[in-house]
Amino acid sequence: MSHQPASTRYDHPGLYRPCGRSGLKLPALSLGLWHNFGGADQPANSRALILRAFDLGITHFDLANNYGPPAGAAEETFGRVLREDLAAYRDELIVSTKAGYDMWPGPYGDHGSRKYLLASLDQSLRRLGLAYVDIFYSHRPDPDTPIEETMGALAHAVHGGKALYAGISNYNPEQTARAAKVLRDLGAPCLIHQPRYNLFDRWVEGGLLEVLQREGIGAIAFSPLAQGLLSNRYLTGIPADSRAGHDPRFLRPDQITEAKRGQIRALDGLARVRGQSLAQMAVAWLLRQPAVTSVLVGASKASQIEDSLGAVTNAAFSTDELVRIDRILAG
Ligand code: NDP
Repeated sequence: MSHQPASTRYDHPGLYRPCGRSGLKLPALSLGLWHNFGGADQPANSRALILRAFDLGITHFDLANNYGPPAGAAEETFGRVLREDLAAYRDELIVSTKAGYDMWPGPYGDHGSRKYLLASLDQSLRRLGLAYVDIFYSHRPDPDTPIEETMGALAHAVHGGKALYAGISNYNPEQTARAAKVLRDLGAPCLIHQPRYNLFDRWVEGGLLEVLQREGIGAIAFSPLAQGLLSNRYLTGIPADSRAGHDPRFLRPDQITEAKRGQIRALDGLARVRGQSLAQMAVAWLLRQPAVTSVLVGASKASQIEDSLGAVTNAAFSTDELVRIDRILAG
């Protein structure tokens, strides 16, 4: 039976923030489907995560062609929930997908050519069961393809109606400035940039945020909790049901050193003083940046989405708190 969304889902209009200088607003918290939506994951849990998020007013769901495993499975999972539960709510949703990493054999299944991007978008639309996505991203820069070609493919998708907006991910400041100019000249302005940004990884502060603000491009921060490190997950050990515990493809137990755990505990202490969970403080710390439109969390449990969303009501930091955070991170 189709899902009946909570009538309270838009009771927090302050949740929505303009994406750069566009007319599109995104929720301060968005949900990413990189992990926990694959072929081996429990479909009932994946569905519950999507529906809980939507009930809480989270209107933006982020995918990529290769999310699974196997690649493509997350789009199929999301497509099924869209079809069976949310078909009547397409116009309340911002669905994004990306192409840029290895998808199929041969020279046309990876990187940034027009051939790959446009074929991949067609495949994504079939898996999602959609006529268009809201945002289509180049998932990573391709040094072997002229940026005009990659951006030309994004602009073609927009002009052809298969994507409403163009986005880029993992581009450095110089590549971003060039991509922005090419897209603007092609009449499909760059809406959004998706970089990794969290307390442990602040590379975007070395110029990217300034470029984004200058160009009027919104930032959506991925892995804001450093894949779960910036939460109560690993304070004392490695739980069997955690990412490092059961799916260490991208977060290995040996990355959780005692030194890192010391920093996590100190940050957790500071969060408690602020009356927040560590995950909430990590999200709030990103939201305080004017360049950041949305914080793109992952989740394995609906309760994690509820917890992280609590960040929105306590997102201000005193100078003293910011200094203390910097000291912990430098230690
Ligand atoms: P996070 O840093 O938010 O990590 C998510 C994990 O943190 C969850 O799976 C869960 O771990 C744990 N967690 C989440 N909330 C809480 C909470 N409140 N309390 C305790 N633990 C919590 O993000 P991801 O690394 O998952 O990335 C998010 C999204 O970003 C992806 O789904 C994808 O859409 C995008 N992304 C984009 C990339 C790109 O190149 N453009 C690359 C990577 C991600 P556990 O599973 O252990 O419970």
